[in-house]
Amino acid sequence: KRAPFAGDEKASRLVVLAGPTAVGKGTVSTWIRENVPGVLLSVSATTRAPRPGEIDGVSYYFVDDAEFDRMIEAGEFLEWAVVHNSSRYGTPRAPIDEALADGKSVLLEIDIQGARQVREAMPEARLVFLLPPSWAELVRRLTGRGTETAEEQERRLATAEVELAAQNEFDYLIVNNDVETAARDVVELMK
Ligand code: 5GP
Repeated sequence: KRAPFAGDEKASRLVVLAGPTAVGKGTVSTWIRENVPGVLLSVSATTRAPRPGEIDGVSYYFVDDAEFDRMIEAGEFLEWAVVHNSSRYGTPRAPIDEALADGKSVLLEIDIQGARQVREAMPEARLVFLLPPSWAELVRRLTGRGTETAEEQERRLATAEVELAAQNEFDYLIVNNDVETAARDVVELMK
């Protein structure tokens, strides 16, 4: 929606992917990491515990509260936020600056609070909101995972409703009907 202007070539290669819980941000990001060379998928630091199968330095940098505090103090984050009222998550700035300087594109998969902070810090970043094909489909995806209790599902649906309301703050809306199509649409924005 916003017209590019001189000098924003670097920042415009920074794309932020946000969207409601269970919309498929992770799947779209992973597709891009595995299929598109020259794109850095930023690895966040988090204070939450690793889930089974998650690898330190790949899924996240798993750090304790003291280390997260140190990183904030040292100015190492482009943005950080408390997500789902529990753990802290933050985007390390240095790898992003390096990748952009090397002519690469950068993808951040972060929450809406984080997207707002990136907009402040780097106004030319492109903010993408990933939408479910419909509310019914989002409910299906959320409940279909079968990994959460009914209570947790209710809580997540309520969160999703609030999150969907933020879509108008974003530059681009992409509907996740199909992972590969959505991923290719995101990649188009990095050029
Ligand atoms: P999960 O704990 O399921 O991996 O992630 C929970 C939420 O944290 C997701 O909505 C994800 O987008 C968000 N998140 C992950 N990394 C970051 C980050 O570095 N900054 C912010 N603001 N949110 C993040």
